[in-house]
Amino acid sequence: MSIQQLETDYLIIGSGAVGMAFADVLLTETDANIIIVDKHHKPGGHWNDAYSFVTLHQPSSFYGVSSRELCGGMIDKIGLNKGLSELASGAEVMAYFDKVMKHTFLPSGRVKYFPMCEYKGDGKFSSLLSDTSYEVKVNKKIIDGTYFKTSVPATHTPNFEIAEGVKFGPLNDLPSLTKPRDGYVIIGGGKTGIDAVLWLLENQIHPDHITWIMPRDAWLIDRKNTQPSRDFFHPYYRGAGYSSRSDCGS
Ligand SMILES: Cc1cc2nc3c(=O)[nH]c(=O)nc-3n(C[C@H](O)[C@H](O)[C@H](O)COP(=O)(O)OP(=O)(O)OC[C@H]3O[C@@H](n4cnc5c(N)ncnc54)[C@H](O)[C@@H]3O)c2cc1C
Repeated sequence: MSIQQLETDYLIIGSGAVGMAFADVLLTETDANIIIVDKHHKPGGHWNDAYSFVTLHQPSSFYGVSSRELCGGMIDKIGLNKGLSELASGAEVMAYFDKVMKHTFLPSGRVKYFPMCEYKGDGKFSSLLSDTSYEVKVNKKIIDGTYFKTSVPATHTPNFEIAEGVKFGPLNDLPSLTKPRDGYVIIGGGKTGIDAVLWLLENQIHPDHITWIMPRDAWLIDRKNTQPSRDFFHPYYRGAGYSSRSDCGS
Protein backbone atom coordinates (compact mmCIF):
# COMPACT_ATOMS: atom_id res chain seq x y z
CA MET A 1 0.00 0.00 0.00
CA SER A 2 1.33 3.48 -0.86
CA ILE A 3 0.63 6.54 1.28
CA GLN A 4 0.93 9.98 -0.27
CA GLN A 5 1.34 13.16 1.76
CA LEU A 6 -0.54 16.26 0.61
CA GLU A 7 -0.94 19.81 1.91
CA THR A 8 -3.78 22.29 1.32
CA ASP A 9 -5.65 25.21 2.85
CA TYR A 10 -9.13 23.64 2.55
CA LEU A 11 -10.05 19.97 2.24
CA ILE A 12 -13.61 19.61 0.91
CA ILE A 13 -15.39 16.28 1.26
CA GLY A 14 -17.97 15.89 -1.51
CA SER A 15 -18.23 17.43 -4.98
CA GLY A 16 -22.03 17.72 -4.90
CA ALA A 17 -23.76 21.08 -5.26
CA VAL A 18 -22.69 22.08 -1.75
CA GLY A 19 -18.97 21.21 -2.05
CA MET A 20 -18.80 22.73 -5.55
CA ALA A 21 -20.53 25.98 -4.51
CA PHE A 22 -18.27 26.32 -1.48
CA ALA A 23 -15.11 25.74 -3.55
CA ASP A 24 -16.33 28.23 -6.15
CA VAL A 25 -16.67 31.03 -3.59
CA LEU A 26 -13.25 30.20 -2.10
CA LEU A 27 -11.72 30.40 -5.58
CA THR A 28 -13.39 33.71 -6.37
CA GLU A 29 -12.95 35.47 -3.06
CA THR A 30 -9.67 34.14 -1.64
CA ASP A 31 -6.31 32.87 -2.89
CA ALA A 32 -6.65 29.58 -0.97
CA ASN A 33 -5.67 26.16 -2.28
CA ILE A 34 -8.32 23.44 -2.22
CA ILE A 35 -8.47 19.65 -2.34
CA ILE A 36 -11.84 18.07 -3.23
CA VAL A 37 -12.46 14.38 -2.52
CA ASP A 38 -15.47 12.36 -3.70
CA LYS A 39 -16.53 8.72 -3.98
CA HIS A 40 -18.24 9.42 -7.32
CA HIS A 41 -16.23 9.55 -10.53
CA LYS A 42 -17.73 12.89 -11.64
CA PRO A 43 -18.70 16.06 -9.79
CA GLY A 44 -22.44 16.59 -9.19
CA GLY A 45 -23.06 14.34 -6.18
CA HIS A 46 -26.43 12.54 -6.16
CA TRP A 47 -27.13 13.63 -9.76
CA ASN A 48 -24.67 10.83 -10.72
CA ASP A 49 -27.26 8.30 -9.48
CA ALA A 50 -30.44 10.00 -10.66
CA TYR A 51 -33.11 8.47 -12.89
CA SER A 52 -32.86 9.41 -16.57
CA PHE A 53 -35.99 11.62 -16.57
CA VAL A 54 -35.06 13.70 -13.51
CA THR A 55 -35.06 17.48 -13.83
CA LEU A 56 -34.65 20.32 -11.40
CA HIS A 57 -37.96 21.27 -9.83
CA GLN A 58 -37.13 24.95 -9.88
CA PRO A 59 -35.87 27.27 -12.64
CA SER A 60 -32.29 26.46 -13.65
CA SER A 61 -31.22 30.03 -12.94
CA PHE A 62 -31.64 29.41 -9.19
CA TYR A 63 -29.23 26.46 -9.18
CA GLY A 64 -25.47 25.92 -9.39
CA VAL A 65 -22.34 27.81 -8.38
CA SER A 66 -22.03 31.60 -8.34
CA SER A 67 -19.41 32.05 -11.07
CA ARG A 68 -21.25 30.25 -13.90
CA GLU A 69 -24.87 30.24 -15.01
CA LEU A 70 -26.47 26.82 -15.38
CA CYS A 71 -28.74 27.64 -18.32
CA GLY A 72 -29.50 30.63 -20.47
CA GLY A 73 -32.92 31.51 -19.01
CA MET A 74 -34.98 29.98 -21.82
CA ILE A 75 -38.76 29.60 -21.48
CA ASP A 76 -40.10 26.06 -22.09
CA LYS A 77 -42.40 25.92 -25.10
CA ILE A 78 -43.85 22.44 -24.60
CA GLY A 79 -44.63 19.97 -21.85
CA LEU A 80 -45.84 20.33 -18.27
CA ASN A 81 -43.56 23.33 -17.68
CA LYS A 82 -44.79 25.21 -20.78
CA GLY A 83 -44.52 29.00 -20.42
CA LEU A 84 -42.15 28.83 -17.44
CA SER A 85 -38.35 29.03 -17.08
CA GLU A 86 -36.59 25.86 -18.14
CA LEU A 87 -35.77 23.11 -15.65
CA ALA A 88 -32.35 21.59 -16.35
CA SER A 89 -32.35 17.83 -16.83
CA GLY A 90 -30.09 15.61 -14.72
CA ALA A 91 -27.76 15.22 -17.72
CA GLU A 92 -27.52 19.01 -18.04
CA VAL A 93 -26.78 19.40 -14.32
CA MET A 94 -24.02 16.77 -14.61
CA ALA A 95 -22.52 18.42 -17.71
CA TYR A 96 -22.66 21.78 -15.93
CA PHE A 97 -20.71 20.60 -12.85
CA ASP A 98 -18.24 18.84 -15.13
CA LYS A 99 -17.64 22.15 -16.95
CA VAL A 100 -17.22 24.02 -13.66
CA MET A 101 -14.55 21.48 -12.67
CA LYS A 102 -12.79 21.31 -16.05
CA HIS A 103 -13.05 24.93 -17.16
CA THR A 104 -12.88 26.84 -13.87
CA PHE A 105 -11.56 24.81 -10.93
CA LEU A 106 -8.74 22.72 -12.40
CA PRO A 107 -7.30 25.36 -14.78
CA SER A 108 -6.99 27.74 -11.79
CA GLY A 109 -4.12 25.53 -10.57
CA ARG A 110 -5.47 25.95 -7.03
CA VAL A 111 -7.85 22.98 -6.98
CA LYS A 112 -6.82 19.33 -6.81
CA TYR A 113 -9.68 16.89 -7.43
CA PHE A 114 -9.69 13.29 -6.19
CA PRO A 115 -12.72 11.43 -7.61
CA MET A 116 -13.27 7.75 -6.75
CA CYS A 117 -11.80 8.34 -3.30
CA GLU A 118 -13.39 7.86 0.11
CA TYR A 119 -12.75 10.18 3.01
CA LYS A 120 -11.97 8.24 6.19
CA GLY A 121 -11.74 11.10 8.69
CA ASP A 122 -8.82 12.88 10.30
CA GLY A 123 -7.53 14.32 6.99
CA LYS A 124 -7.16 10.85 5.42
CA PHE A 125 -8.72 9.38 2.30
CA SER A 126 -8.20 6.33 0.09
CA SER A 127 -8.69 5.46 -3.56
CA LEU A 128 -11.62 3.14 -4.24
CA LEU A 129 -9.73 1.63 -7.20
CA SER A 130 -6.15 1.19 -6.04
CA ASP A 131 -4.34 0.68 -2.75
CA THR A 132 -3.23 4.32 -2.59
CA SER A 133 -4.07 6.30 0.53
CA TYR A 134 -3.60 9.99 1.20
CA GLU A 135 -2.84 12.00 4.32
CA VAL A 136 -3.53 15.70 4.09
CA LYS A 137 -2.02 18.49 6.17
CA VAL A 138 -4.89 21.00 6.26
CA ASN A 139 -3.78 24.55 7.00
CA LYS A 140 -7.23 26.11 7.41
CA LYS A 141 -10.34 23.89 7.48
CA ILE A 142 -11.90 20.55 6.59
CA ILE A 143 -15.31 21.18 4.97
CA ASP A 144 -18.03 18.53 5.23
CA GLY A 145 -19.91 18.78 1.92
CA THR A 146 -21.87 15.64 2.82
CA TYR A 147 -23.74 17.25 5.71
CA PHE A 148 -27.22 17.06 4.10
CA LYS A 149 -26.85 13.29 3.65
CA THR A 150 -28.89 13.39 0.44
CA SER A 151 -30.31 9.95 -0.22
CA VAL A 152 -31.87 8.68 -3.45
CA PRO A 153 -33.86 5.46 -4.05
CA ALA A 154 -31.16 4.08 -6.36
CA THR A 155 -28.57 3.99 -3.58
CA HIS A 156 -30.43 3.05 -0.40
CA THR A 157 -32.30 -0.07 0.65
CA PRO A 158 -36.02 0.37 1.36
CA ASN A 159 -37.14 0.32 5.01
CA PHE A 160 -40.10 -1.98 4.25
CA GLU A 161 -40.48 -5.58 3.14
CA ILE A 162 -41.28 -6.59 -0.43
CA ALA A 163 -43.64 -9.53 -0.93
CA GLU A 164 -42.48 -12.43 -3.04
CA GLY A 165 -43.31 -12.12 -6.72
CA VAL A 166 -43.55 -8.32 -6.69
CA LYS A 167 -41.34 -6.65 -9.30
CA PHE A 168 -39.71 -3.95 -7.23
CA GLY A 169 -37.11 -1.33 -8.14
CA PRO A 170 -36.06 2.30 -7.97
CA LEU A 171 -37.71 4.58 -10.52
CA ASN A 172 -34.41 4.47 -12.47
CA ASP A 173 -35.75 1.13 -13.79
CA LEU A 174 -39.00 2.51 -15.28
CA PRO A 175 -37.62 3.46 -18.74
CA SER A 176 -36.17 -0.04 -19.17
CA LEU A 177 -39.54 -1.83 -18.77
CA THR A 178 -40.39 -3.77 -21.91
CA LYS A 179 -43.85 -5.19 -21.26
CA PRO A 180 -47.11 -3.83 -19.81
CA ARG A 181 -47.84 -4.45 -16.12
CA ASP A 182 -51.22 -4.96 -14.44
CA GLY A 183 -50.60 -1.90 -12.34
CA TYR A 184 -47.97 0.39 -10.89
CA VAL A 185 -47.52 1.25 -7.21
CA ILE A 186 -45.46 4.32 -6.37
CA ILE A 187 -44.22 4.60 -2.80
CA GLY A 188 -43.26 8.04 -1.52
CA GLY A 189 -44.88 11.46 -1.78
CA GLY A 190 -41.87 13.70 -2.42
CA LYS A 191 -40.55 15.14 -5.65
CA THR A 192 -39.26 11.73 -6.74
CA GLY A 193 -42.65 10.05 -6.21
CA ILE A 194 -44.37 12.86 -8.12
CA ASP A 195 -41.85 12.44 -10.97
CA ALA A 196 -42.64 8.71 -11.15
CA VAL A 197 -46.41 9.32 -11.32
CA LEU A 198 -46.05 12.05 -13.94
CA TRP A 199 -43.73 9.88 -16.01
CA LEU A 200 -46.30 7.06 -16.05
CA LEU A 201 -49.15 9.45 -16.97
CA GLU A 202 -47.04 11.02 -19.74
CA ASN A 203 -46.44 7.52 -21.06
CA GLN A 204 -50.16 6.83 -21.42
CA ILE A 205 -50.69 4.75 -18.28
CA HIS A 206 -54.31 5.23 -17.21
CA PRO A 207 -54.66 6.78 -13.71
CA ASP A 208 -56.76 3.74 -12.63
CA HIS A 209 -53.61 1.62 -13.03
CA ILE A 210 -51.51 3.77 -10.71
CA THR A 211 -51.62 3.45 -6.92
CA TRP A 212 -49.73 6.14 -5.05
CA ILE A 213 -48.77 5.54 -1.43
CA MET A 214 -47.70 8.66 0.41
CA PRO A 215 -47.30 9.16 4.14
CA ARG A 216 -48.89 12.62 4.19
CA ASP A 217 -50.00 15.44 1.91
CA ALA A 218 -47.12 17.56 0.71
CA TRP A 219 -46.90 21.33 0.96
CA LEU A 220 -46.54 22.29 -2.70
CA ILE A 221 -45.68 25.68 -4.16
CA ASP A 222 -46.97 26.65 -7.62
CA ARG A 223 -43.82 27.01 -9.73
CA LYS A 224 -45.41 29.98 -11.51
CA ASN A 225 -44.96 31.93 -8.26
CA THR A 226 -41.21 31.32 -8.09
CA GLN A 227 -40.06 32.46 -11.53
CA PRO A 228 -37.01 34.68 -11.86
CA SER A 229 -38.01 37.28 -14.51
CA ARG A 230 -39.96 40.56 -14.21
CA ASP A 231 -42.78 39.03 -16.27
CA PHE A 232 -43.68 36.96 -13.22
CA PHE A 233 -43.42 39.74 -10.66
CA HIS A 234 -47.15 39.78 -9.82
CA PRO A 235 -47.59 35.98 -9.49
CA TYR A 236 -44.43 35.95 -7.36
CA TYR A 237 -45.68 38.77 -5.16
CA ARG A 238 -49.12 37.19 -4.73
CA GLY A 239 -47.48 33.81 -4.04
CA ALA A 240 -45.56 35.45 -1.19
CA GLY A 241 -48.88 36.24 0.48
CA TYR A 242 -49.70 39.78 -0.70
CA SER A 243 -53.10 40.16 -2.25
CA SER A 244 -53.57 43.46 -4.07
CA ARG A 245 -51.60 45.57 -6.52
CA SER A 246 -51.46 48.36 -3.96
CA ASP A 247 -49.52 46.03 -1.62
CA CYS A 248 -46.59 46.23 -4.02
CA GLY A 249 -46.84 49.94 -4.66
CA SER A 250 -47.85 49.73 -8.32
C1 LIG B 1 -33.89 13.88 -7.31
C2 LIG B 1 -33.52 15.17 -6.61
C3 LIG B 1 -33.83 16.38 -7.21
C4 LIG B 1 -33.50 17.58 -6.56
N1 LIG B 1 -33.83 18.76 -7.15
C5 LIG B 1 -33.49 19.92 -6.56
C6 LIG B 1 -33.81 21.19 -7.16
O1 LIG B 1 -34.44 21.26 -8.20
N2 LIG B 1 -33.42 22.30 -6.52
C7 LIG B 1 -32.76 22.26 -5.31
O2 LIG B 1 -32.39 23.32 -4.79
N3 LIG B 1 -32.47 21.08 -4.73
C8 LIG B 1 -32.83 19.93 -5.30
N4 LIG B 1 -32.54 18.74 -4.68
C9 LIG B 1 -31.95 18.76 -3.34
C10 LIG B 1 -30.46 18.36 -3.36
O3 LIG B 1 -30.25 17.82 -2.11
C11 LIG B 1 -29.56 19.54 -3.64
O4 LIG B 1 -29.93 20.13 -4.84
C12 LIG B 1 -28.07 19.22 -3.80
O5 LIG B 1 -27.81 18.59 -5.05
C13 LIG B 1 -27.50 18.40 -2.68
O6 LIG B 1 -26.11 18.54 -2.80
P1 LIG B 1 -25.12 18.06 -1.68
O7 LIG B 1 -23.76 18.51 -2.12
O8 LIG B 1 -25.60 18.48 -0.34
O9 LIG B 1 -25.24 16.46 -1.64
P2 LIG B 1 -24.84 15.34 -2.69
O10 LIG B 1 -25.28 15.67 -4.06
O11 LIG B 1 -25.33 14.06 -2.11
O12 LIG B 1 -23.23 15.33 -2.67
C14 LIG B 1 -22.50 14.80 -1.61
C15 LIG B 1 -21.29 14.11 -2.20
O13 LIG B 1 -20.47 13.68 -1.10
C16 LIG B 1 -19.87 12.45 -1.46
N5 LIG B 1 -19.48 11.74 -0.25
C17 LIG B 1 -20.27 11.34 0.79
N6 LIG B 1 -19.52 10.71 1.72
C18 LIG B 1 -18.24 10.71 1.25
C19 LIG B 1 -17.02 10.21 1.76
N7 LIG B 1 -16.90 9.59 2.96
N8 LIG B 1 -15.90 10.36 1.01
C20 LIG B 1 -15.95 10.98 -0.19
N9 LIG B 1 -17.09 11.49 -0.71
C21 LIG B 1 -18.22 11.36 0.00
C22 LIG B 1 -20.95 11.71 -2.25
O14 LIG B 1 -20.34 10.74 -3.11
C23 LIG B 1 -21.61 12.86 -3.02
O15 LIG B 1 -21.06 13.00 -4.32
C24 LIG B 1 -32.85 17.55 -5.30
C25 LIG B 1 -32.54 16.31 -4.72
C26 LIG B 1 -32.87 15.13 -5.35
C27 LIG B 1 -32.52 13.84 -4.68
